[in-house]
Amino acid sequence: MISPARPTFRFAPSPNGLLHLGHARSALLNAAMAAQAGGVLLLRVEDIDLARCRPEYEAAICEDLAWLGIAWEPPARRQSEHFDDYRTALVRLGELDLVYESFESRADINRAVRDRPDWPRDPDGAPLFPFRRMAMGVDERARRRAAGEPFALRLDMARAVALAGPLDWQEQGEGAGHGAGHAASIEPRAVAADPLAWGDVVLARKDVPTSYHLSVVVDDALQGVTHVVRGADLTAATSVHRLLQTLLDLPAPLYTHHSLLVDPQGRKLSKSLGSESLRRLRENGATAQEVRRLALDAVD
Ligand code: GLU
Repeated sequence: MISPARPTFRFAPSPNGLLHLGHARSALLNAAMAAQAGGVLLLRVEDIDLARCRPEYEAAICEDLAWLGIAWEPPARRQSEHFDDYRTALVRLGELDLVYESFESRADINRAVRDRPDWPRDPDGAPLFPFRRMAMGVDERARRRAAGEPFALRLDMARAVALAGPLDWQEQGEGAGHGAGHAASIEPRAVAADPLAWGDVVLARKDVPTSYHLSVVVDDALQGVTHVVRGADLTAATSVHRLLQTLLDLPAPLYTHHSLLVDPQGRKLSKSLGSESLRRLRENGATAQEVRRLALDAVD
């Protein structure tokens, strides 16, 4: 008899700065939903960008979570230790003829779309990749590779979508599982995936041999994650994740994209906006209880 999967949640921060209230919200919701499901919470350190991530930020993440009273099942998975897993997935996608080398730089892309105000942009606001896979001949690519020019590996999105067919994911409201369980009856609903909106996404670069999309999908599967609970700013990315899961034959978790906390100007909290870190709040005398309340504000 196959035993049902243990409900497995994960909190997956990047150690490129200190955590703020928005992270606390995600972590607390994950912990509450895992507890209510009788499951487990894992910690994943998303440190593929070695130039920006620092061990001291990883230590600060652990310290902040412990202070908030959030326990995770060890060991934490550090993505930088698993580049081989992502490479294996890339090879598999390559075997399906879905990956190609693009030598065009960001500057080339910006130049190509500069005079085209109507050129479509992806859900994060970046211009869709404006060059075609076949625009550069095989010989030219081989020459540039031999010359050591940097390139990105991109997904041939049109081909990938044609191969995978129409996709959706199951989305469960953030209220389910939180608090006293008053909203636990919220039924998951199907959301149609629209990966074409992202164009030919980057799967790996020369300096970072994987990408957020690829590593998140591989790790969720390898860690047996059944429930992904993360901010609504990542909702659109789930279209790419469902596509990669399908192409790589990986299971689809249940998703909850929770509402984001905003600063007084209505902007989402982020490290770059200098939102107050949990450490700073703590140093200024806030209690864990107060921070928990602030972080979960407006969760229904
Ligand atoms: N590492 C991502 C972030 O810090 C979260 C990834 C995810 O939860 O899928 O925004």
